[in-house]
Amino acid sequence: MSQHYDLIAIGGGSGGLSAAERAAKYGAKTAVIEAGKLGGTCVNLGCVPKKVMWYGANIAHMLHDAQDYGFEVSAYDFRWQELKHHRDQYVGNINSWYHTYLTDSNIDEIQGYARFVDAHTLDVGGRHYSADHIVIAPGSYPIVPPIEGADLGITSDGFFDLEDRPRRVAVVGSGYIAVEIAGVLNALGSDVTMFLRKEHLLRKFDAMLRESLMEEMLNHGLSIISSSQIEKVERLMDGTLNLHCSKGQLYSGFDQLIWAVGRAPSSAGLQLDRAGVATDSDGYILVDEFQNSNVPGVYALGDITPAPQLTPVAIAAARRLADRLFGGMKDRKLDYSLIPSVVFSHPPIATVGLTETEARAGHGEAVKVYQTRFTPMYHAFTDNQSHVAMKLVCVGAQERVVGCHIIGMGADEMLQGFAVAMRMGATKKDFDDTIAIHPTAAEELVTMR
Ligand code: FAD
Ligand code: NDP
Repeated sequence: MSQHYDLIAIGGGSGGLSAAERAAKYGAKTAVIEAGKLGGTCVNLGCVPKKVMWYGANIAHMLHDAQDYGFEVSAYDFRWQELKHHRDQYVGNINSWYHTYLTDSNIDEIQGYARFVDAHTLDVGGRHYSADHIVIAPGSYPIVPPIEGADLGITSDGFFDLEDRPRRVAVVGSGYIAVEIAGVLNALGSDVTMFLRKEHLLRKFDAMLRESLMEEMLNHGLSIISSSQIEKVERLMDGTLNLHCSKGQLYSGFDQLIWAVGRAPSSAGLQLDRAGVATDSDGYILVDEFQNSNVPGVYALGDITPAPQLTPVAIAAARRLADRLFGGMKDRKLDYSLIPSVVFSHPPIATVGLTETEARAGHGEAVKVYQTRFTPMYHAFTDNQSHVAMKLVCVGAQERVVGCHIIGMGADEMLQGFAVAMRMGATKKDFDDTIAIHPTAAEELVTMR
């Protein structure tokens, strides 16, 4: 006999929890199945512990700048273990809160790994649970490339387990995670070398962002080896790692190697074939604009789909799905356009909408770009000469703002409001007509010529 629900979410991460939570608010009988820790990647191995480390790294940068502001802080000690301890405690508290929250919200928590028995039944450790609606939200996991010695390295998961600051680190990859982890380690005192298989960091971002970031990272003392593919890793007798690259180069002396080469969907163990749920060749579950899979009553959202892998995207898709299934909003769905995001690099990047290249490809001569680059007042007399760069990509006679790209101190907190304006169809004139807030870096976004 299986226990029956209105909705079961597979995965107690950003997407699964949000689907169950919203469905339960409508009175649905709901359960979440979680194989690991409640909160999923974001809380345990992603956004939250990463942001704590980013704050730590910011403090290191500020301690450096403090001397230019007249503070005598030439000697200070940094205790990695203490930061990790506080971070882990903070994450642990969020976990505990989730258990209580599920109970208080009338959502059943089922601990274990879910596998499909059929389209409406799941097996968890030999017990069966059925539901009218099953939401697949098991997220993704970090990829380790299939090369000799790859397991001598760690991924972002292992980064959060590190008990000590590595002395000399190789970070392989060029995306969000590579840039963020490399920046944190560099600020906290590690000697960091990044290995990019192509030429650029954040290749799909606007050129202004990736070029500025490359310049800033090099100024901060990181080494960046581009157009280099690692083919073999070996550990020497002294414990250090040798990295053998495609063009015959050898890089040695690393005490840590971090793979940050993308993530893959966690679909392989779900026995999707028993439910008849279709995936693409990479294992992402195929869904329509309403998060419906090809099987009625089975939905997917978050990192298990080919959507942008961001927590607010998973949450928004989940809430809209529950609104549709239980809230009587039959057309409710997530609009996947104009999704803002921040890369917590040093300095941070904030971006929404079309890059200049994308806009020119789609709109040709109708594109007008406004751009600025300046030293923010904070850095006016600091030894560390970090810049702010901003770009507005506008289209048509009305100059509708279709892209906004910022790199520099404060960018992370600057973009959210501008993203609202862009969703509402703001034009360059709307930006110009907005009174600036002075003195800030953000005011440049409404004063650009
Ligand atoms: P997850 O949050 O991964 O949740 C899936 C859950 O399902 C997991 O807890 C897993 O244990 C469980 N599970 C898997 N298979 C099964 C099964 N068969 N049965 C039961 N349970 C199962 N996004 C941002 O927006 N901002 C950030 O700053 C940010 N930083 C990040 C930093 C890092 C290092 C990483 C790795 C990711 C970051 N992300 C960030 C991305 C964000 O974490 C993900 O997009 C988000 O967590 C996806 O949510 P999800 O619900 O799809 O999956
Ligand atoms: P990304 O997709 O951002 O970047 C991975 C990059 O690594 C690829 O784009 C590719 O770049 C490069 N790469 C792929 N294979 C190899 C290889 N074999 N050797 C060397 N480089 C390789 O993935 P991440 O793992 O960084 O992050 C996963 C996702 O998690 C992100 O896309 C993002 O959505 C989310 N995330 C969000 C964050 C935030 O919001 N701040 C923070 C962290 C993660 P190229 O093709 O140019 O070589």
